[in-house]
Amino acid sequence: MKIRYFDHAATTSVKEEVLKEMLPYFSIRYGNASSIYGIGRQSKKAVEQARERVAEALNCSQKEIYFTSCGTESDNLAIKGIAYANKEKGRHIITSKIEHPAVLQTCETLESQGYKVTYLDVDKEGIILLDELKSAITDETILISVMFANNEIGTIQPIKEIGKIAREHGVLFHTDAVQAIGNVKINVEELNIDLLSLSAHKFYGPKGIGALYVREDVEFERTQDGGHQEKNKRSGTENVAGIVGLGKAIQLSCDNFEWYNKKLLTLRDYYISQIEEKIPNAKLNGHRTQRLPGNANISIPSVQGEALLLNLDNEGICISTGSACTSGSLVPSHVLTAIGLSDELAQSSIRVTIGDENTKEDINFLIDKIIENVNKLAKK
Ligand code: PLP
Repeated sequence: MKIRYFDHAATTSVKEEVLKEMLPYFSIRYGNASSIYGIGRQSKKAVEQARERVAEALNCSQKEIYFTSCGTESDNLAIKGIAYANKEKGRHIITSKIEHPAVLQTCETLESQGYKVTYLDVDKEGIILLDELKSAITDETILISVMFANNEIGTIQPIKEIGKIAREHGVLFHTDAVQAIGNVKINVEELNIDLLSLSAHKFYGPKGIGALYVREDVEFERTQDGGHQEKNKRSGTENVAGIVGLGKAIQLSCDNFEWYNKKLLTLRDYYISQIEEKIPNAKLNGHRTQRLPGNANISIPSVQGEALLLNLDNEGICISTGSACTSGSLVPSHVLTAIGLSDELAQSSIRVTIGDENTKEDINFLIDKIIENVNKLAKK
């Protein structure tokens, strides 16, 4: 059976060119990047070339990039690193209610350590309210952490404005850009970003490798004890093959940005318009235009999203839902409930995230199968 994959927000396949650059670092170029002999220096050079590629993609300096093991670790390092380095200055952090668990749970851990966290509401399209942000800032506020784009509904936040507010108040600004890299052009300087997290497996790189951008003059504490790698900020032998893969993948995503973006927008808008035409009570979640180019999150009342997902899986189609299974019961998404959906509607939601290998024919197949299965599953 042909697999048709529409879950690129979950992960992507590794591009052939990326894998090709990575492979030698598993075999013949196995040197430790900290070793000072030839094959060690060769690995170090590859790590530094990847750092240069990430810096170029974000418009920052190589010195400002730290490699980590994933997006989750980057979020942890950014938020805890700033919290611990600034504990004498203040212990208040502002974030939003729709962040990824990598940010939300990090903030909860800090709360248990005596920090105060404000979780901002979002409007019905998933955008934070800038006035609410401004009034949440106090003399104790040290960090604002708001995601660039949401992983479930694709809504893109007004990042430049958030960064401007942070600067005006002398507060640092971190953004989880794990879903945005490869889909949105990001210039950290223009957007007033102080720290940014990214993860290679969301833009056709390997899993298990991430990076954190930290503006040069920003002090942060390391959170993992050990060796002196990554300028003493992230201990652990460098994952050279992974870093090489991340560097190549980010370079390709910059080179291919224009056509990739156009392709995704065209397919996504076609999918949304067809679903809205053929299932009149379907409701698009998130902002209609200020959203990631490949994301379409739609609620179909009286259809259980999880049941639809499983039926589509039988047809070789991979999508995701607005609920997670915890001990056999369905928990509605915190993002969908934060934008005002009832638990029932949140559980009736499906997320399609389009990517590189999808064609219009695949989208037509997906639409046909959704309609066929919605007719079967809809509660009469
Ligand atoms: N942040 C966001 C917005 C994500 O979507 C994800 C992954 O789904 C992460 C963080 C975590 O990234 P990783 O899987 O590399 O740990």
